[in-house]
Amino acid sequence: MAEQAYPPWISHSTLLRQVRITGRLRTLEPLRVGMGKVDTPDVTTDLPVIRVKELRSGIEVPYIPGSSLKGVFRSAAESIAKSEGVKPDPCSGLSKNNCMAARRVEGQTLEDFVKTLLKKNAIRDALKSFADNACLLCKVFGAPTYRSKIVFEDAYPVDEGGKLTSVPTGIKVGIAIDRTTGAVATGAFYRVEYVEPGALFSFSLNSTNLPNYALGLLAEVFTLLDDGLIRVGGFKSRGFGRVRADDVSLMVRHYSPISGEADRLDTLGDPGDRSVSLTPSDVRDGWIIFRGPELEALLKELRRVWKDYAASASKR
Ligand SMILES: [Zn+2]
Repeated sequence: MAEQAYPPWISHSTLLRQVRITGRLRTLEPLRVGMGKVDTPDVTTDLPVIRVKELRSGIEVPYIPGSSLKGVFRSAAESIAKSEGVKPDPCSGLSKNNCMAARRVEGQTLEDFVKTLLKKNAIRDALKSFADNACLLCKVFGAPTYRSKIVFEDAYPVDEGGKLTSVPTGIKVGIAIDRTTGAVATGAFYRVEYVEPGALFSFSLNSTNLPNYALGLLAEVFTLLDDGLIRVGGFKSRGFGRVRADDVSLMVRHYSPISGEADRLDTLGDPGDRSVSLTPSDVRDGWIIFRGPELEALLKELRRVWKDYAASASKR
């Protein structure tokens, strides 16, 4: 067999494994998720939280868009990968600082290089140049012309039983400062709406074809979330946005022999990865399920795999 040009998980064409993580996010501080990023308003303005209408009841409820959660996870994962010195250097994924735009291959941007190969239907070559040049964050969270391997669902407010509910919101009033003069802007009060602490939001992320070390990186992000080192939404520097993940379960489903068995999560053929043995809480309808102490043990092992990967990937 010819040597694999890139790890099989890089390609989207075959479903190898799915890993789904669900739970609740409990707000421990005021939570501000609005339209756009407005951390220092400098005009008189009202900033409502973003809401969605529930079809059956017609009630509008605050929610956290999946894209916000993805941004939080990507930026936390970037900090972790950077602090461990993982190569190629992780990018932020923002418009000017993403691997597709910033990296150059044979005199072109990586994006143009990949697109030229795709036009010639040289898909394997395109994937190889992406695998060789893009950072791990682009491979996991996506990049222009490369689909994300993780999808975050919108998070809706739920009660303890998991049913959609409305949550109390409050208003914080501040004084806007003119950015050029530093003086209080004329008539410049702003009102910021936020979700009160103690609210519960549904949480669900679906990943396809992530190797064990990338799952370990996600496990590291959950640790930072629980330690209050990463926050959700706006006004983070003013004591907003701390949440905790509660009632978390993780489910694995194998679609290919290279993904593993009921008692094993294999490497997906990535030579930088390591297999992990599994002790599930339950197996149901083809899903291998982890919660409670079994989940803790699995996340601990996955974090270890991540650390080992990061140590070797920082020397490349
Ligand atoms: Zn990147």
